[in-house]
Amino acid sequence: MKALVKREPAKGIWMERVPVPTPGPNEVLIKLEKTAICGTDLHIYKWDEWSQRTIKPGLVIGHEFVGRIVAMGPGVTGYKEGDRVSAEGHIVCGHCRNCRAGRQHLCPNTVGIGVNRHGAFAEYIVMPASNLWPIPDEIPSELAAFFDPFGNAAHCALEFDVVGEDVLITGAGPIGIIAAGLVKHIGARHVVITDVNDYRLNLAKDMGATRTVNVARENIHDVMKEIGIEGFDVGLEMSGHPVAFNDMLDAMYHGGKIALLGILPKGSGVDWDRIIFKGLTVQGIYGRKMYETWYKMTQLVRGGFPLHKVLTHQIHIDDFQQGFDLMDAGQCGKVVCSWD
Ligand code: NAD
Ligand code: ZN
Repeated sequence: MKALVKREPAKGIWMERVPVPTPGPNEVLIKLEKTAICGTDLHIYKWDEWSQRTIKPGLVIGHEFVGRIVAMGPGVTGYKEGDRVSAEGHIVCGHCRNCRAGRQHLCPNTVGIGVNRHGAFAEYIVMPASNLWPIPDEIPSELAAFFDPFGNAAHCALEFDVVGEDVLITGAGPIGIIAAGLVKHIGARHVVITDVNDYRLNLAKDMGATRTVNVARENIHDVMKEIGIEGFDVGLEMSGHPVAFNDMLDAMYHGGKIALLGILPKGSGVDWDRIIFKGLTVQGIYGRKMYETWYKMTQLVRGGFPLHKVLTHQIHIDDFQQGFDLMDAGQCGKVVCSWD
């Protein structure tokens, strides 16, 4: 089968022929319909410091996908061939304290597809049946393909009560854009989002942000004066940039709550005084809640949440290079690749 493989320990990604995997007990074989490009795939493509210490060359990358079940290993129940599914890409151990307590998103033994084992930029992928998420007929495949990052946004947006609250989001990548839409949809008052990229800030505005701030030109404190607030009640850090995180700590109201999703570079300086003297809560967020976030996402889209607004490019998988170039340039929301 065709697959996008991280062949060389260098910048790039290679389309290669690899064997079709075989489903073992309690696993299914999925024929991919669509795979979306994640910021993580771009990190692996660029072979940055994180990728160099995490990825073993020879890996099939990708974890945002939708497809159909075409074969099942022994023991699978509740599914049949032809079912259209996405899947949680974090495979948990099932026997640690957190897994057994129903807190699988906190499993210390998590294995990620497309990072620690072969992923979804391939014609076929094998997944444990317990990770599948069935997609209702009314949700189109081009949206189901990126439930994974939608889930990161939803996990953050639902972590704290945002109804009537003033929310600051730093970073208008695809996840920040979706989060801006979500918190407004749920009932936040001011939804301010920052970035240095006007294309993406415009997408966030269209999605529901009430004020966009290009921090290369504008100061967040001027914006706070303009809208008449002393500080933000809830912060969602979605840039992975230490300057943005410290801007956020500075702009939070006393007692504010922060969901920290963006992955900061090792050794990033944090202004601890702001956290202490303002009594801030900082909650690290990893992945999605299994499977409550998936449930909420599905019902949000069914209920009319305009997830499609962040989908800017649909390309054929053979044009993958164009997709990675778009992501690298930041001139896109979500980029979804089709296998047929
Ligand atoms: P992305 O890289 O596409 O978006 C980040 C955005 O931040 C970019 O648009 C960039 O221009 C912007 N930015 C850069 N400097 C900024 C600054 N000083 N102020 C404001 N914005 C700035 O990333 P994404 O795919 O949307 O993901 C968001 C973040 O979440 C990334 O750091 C990613 O690594 C991380 N992430 C974490 C998890 C998790 O489970 N914790 C999962 C997925 C992604
Ligand atoms: Zn576990």
